[in-house]
Amino acid sequence: MPELPEVEVIRQGLEPLLAGTRIVTYAAGSKSMRLPMPCEGIEAYLLGHQVKETGRRGKYLLIWMDNNALLVIHLGMTGRLGLFPRHEPVARHDHLRLGLDNGLELRFNDARRFGSIQVFSPAAIKRQDPFAAMGPEPFAEDFTASYLLERAGNRGQPIKHFLLDGHTVAGIGNIYASEILFAARIRPDTSIAKVTKPQWQKIVVETRRILTRAIACGGSTIADFVNSRGEAGSFQLELAVYGRAGQPCPRCGTGIARVVMSGRSTFYCPACQAGKKARATRAGF
Ligand SMILES: [Zn+2]
Repeated sequence: MPELPEVEVIRQGLEPLLAGTRIVTYAAGSKSMRLPMPCEGIEAYLLGHQVKETGRRGKYLLIWMDNNALLVIHLGMTGRLGLFPRHEPVARHDHLRLGLDNGLELRFNDARRFGSIQVFSPAAIKRQDPFAAMGPEPFAEDFTASYLLERAGNRGQPIKHFLLDGHTVAGIGNIYASEILFAARIRPDTSIAKVTKPQWQKIVVETRRILTRAIACGGSTIADFVNSRGEAGSFQLELAVYGRAGQPCPRCGTGIARVVMSGRSTFYCPACQAGKKARATRAGF
């Protein structure tokens, strides 16, 4: 599933070709995705308008229009976004096509349909930030050790669940949570009430380092992620623990363990990741 780095890689690929173009045609499928399709507002707020710029919030790709309307795309599990010459044959599972005045077409393809497309009107944007409930961006100033310490409070939640919660921090999913906790040397089932401020500081630093490196590598291609030009990323080659059960820890050589937490595969080194277990997941370990 694409996480922050993969969405950012797609955004960076689209930005130079998309910004400043006008949307002149659209075609939307009728099969429902995570939200009903075709979504409302495409014709009213996108058609005939110019793309001002692209953005990203967590795992959501944002396309801002010159009228301040906002197109929000979530890639779900298998979503792909790319720019294609308009005459290129349409692929199976293309759910949205936006024709641009530079001859290209922005196409959103999603085989499993866990993705979503939403259009926010200028009035809706003015009324309320659609992401008001989302936690800070990992690269934002308000993502700090003090913030994490205060938010964790005395709760007994496992740290991995805490990091995966979009209300805590935006954009971190299963792959990067395992990698960040390995880098910070904290067991994924550690109770957040037991995490110290220096450890939270380490989480902040490692989160930024790992996400920055993953973006520079074009993201991680575990199953089928490709960028807007159809190219795979390479950060999967640098993963220390994710998907490496039984293989030696790159730091100490111990076999990497795989456990299931809340139905998600979780990878860690039993020797060099320390921590006091959270009550909630003791049975799982
Ligand atoms: Zn180790």
